[in-house]
Amino acid sequence: MFIEPRVGTGPGVARRGWIEVVCGSMFSGKTEELIRRLNRAKIARQRVEIFKPALDTRYHAEDVVSHNSNSIRSTPVPVAQEMLLLAGGCDVVGVDEAQFFDESLVDVCVQLANGGTRVIVAGLDMDFLGKPFGPMPALMAVAEFVTKVHAICVCCGEIASYSFRMAASEDKILLGETDVYEARCRHCFQEGMKEKSSEPVSKSASAS
Ligand SMILES: [Zn+2]
Repeated sequence: MFIEPRVGTGPGVARRGWIEVVCGSMFSGKTEELIRRLNRAKIARQRVEIFKPALDTRYHAEDVVSHNSNSIRSTPVPVAQEMLLLAGGCDVVGVDEAQFFDESLVDVCVQLANGGTRVIVAGLDMDFLGKPFGPMPALMAVAEFVTKVHAICVCCGEIASYSFRMAASEDKILLGETDVYEARCRHCFQEGMKEKSSEPVSKSASAS
């Protein structure tokens, strides 16, 4: 479990920022871990603000909601730069679903951290093809702390780090839940991708 080097700021100690990344596949508990850290900061009387990309409106527009419904109020922002305006006076800034922001998120996080803010970023490290997702690899490079959390492979029960998409869509952003994605280990992810590539392009076409 990740233990912060500091949570609050003692009297007479200047505020210092840093960047934490929590990454992993779908169903790995990234958002739960983000919420856990933010709740600890709140207990330490830190001023906390949470942002997420405006496109992720699966459950509720203003909540960071994890799959177990343990939620924290959050602010959807259309672009990462908006966080610089809205995060004034915050001790801790949380960012959820960070993979959906563009590369400018990296600069924004660095600016916030340089200015004394603790930044905690949660996001998918890989897309449904197993490729690094959006700004996540660069964020992992500039972060002081990187935590990779894992799900359990639904096929074999091993540790899973891949998000396997069961639907045929090639759209990089396909929001969804258990009916669209499943967590898989490296082996079962590869097996699934092989199966997919050998499938006929359209099932209805092959049936006719
Ligand atoms: Zn497996």
